[in-house]
Amino acid sequence: MINLKNAREIEGLALANEISANTLRIAKEMIRPGVTTEQLDEAMRKYIHSRGAKPDFLGYGGFPKTACISINEEVIHGIPGNRVIREGDIVSVDVGAEIGGWCGDNAYTFMIGEVDPVRKKLCEVTKECLFRGVAQARKGNRLGDIGYAVQSHAEANGFSVVRDYVGHGVGRDMHEDPEVPNFGIAGRGLRLIPGMVIAIEPMIVAGDYKVKVLDNGWTVVTADGSSAAHYEVTVAITEDEPRILSDWRPLL
Ligand code: MG
Repeated sequence: MINLKNAREIEGLALANEISANTLRIAKEMIRPGVTTEQLDEAMRKYIHSRGAKPDFLGYGGFPKTACISINEEVIHGIPGNRVIREGDIVSVDVGAEIGGWCGDNAYTFMIGEVDPVRKKLCEVTKECLFRGVAQARKGNRLGDIGYAVQSHAEANGFSVVRDYVGHGVGRDMHEDPEVPNFGIAGRGLRLIPGMVIAIEPMIVAGDYKVKVLDNGWTVVTADGSSAAHYEVTVAITEDEPRILSDWRPLL
């Protein structure tokens, strides 16, 4: 069931997502070679609390940390710990804050220093995929228009789209209906109407799209060990232009 949001509810989601976007800014300010993923996570947790919010990933399905931090061949759901970030890594930080009962959700893949050309192109193309998808998030379009926009751009650049994980509705629950695939056929699927709020989150990989879950039960990695990038914003469908609630572009 899709929960449509009224104007007041969208303002609640906008606040949660503004805090979420600024949490990525906190990560950006300290991410560099030598920092551990645990240190990043701790700084983000403190920031979210300083805003009177709470981390919405913490405890979600038993997840033990504030953010998912996924490095190189890790696609999503990396668990912060003592791993040290190194020059040349690409580091996806996926984080959300909850306030007033509303959830935020967003992600950004940071390039650490000099990264190899494939990783650099992968990050740039994945970010482009995200905003091509966002541009389709408008009244009257269909979910397939978003998926097609993401997939066609990724594949035109020689990359693959992860199939096993998708975007989602966002509201009082971080994961609501509908599912928002990063692949699809233009003109097909659910029709978008004002009041829908969705997270669009392309997970694009340099090699084959198959993934597997590590023994920790969480971390999703590419099966072939190729690199992955992941960018995410939460978007409200309106009467006219898509409204990005967690727009981190001015902050990062
Ligand atoms: Mg998400």
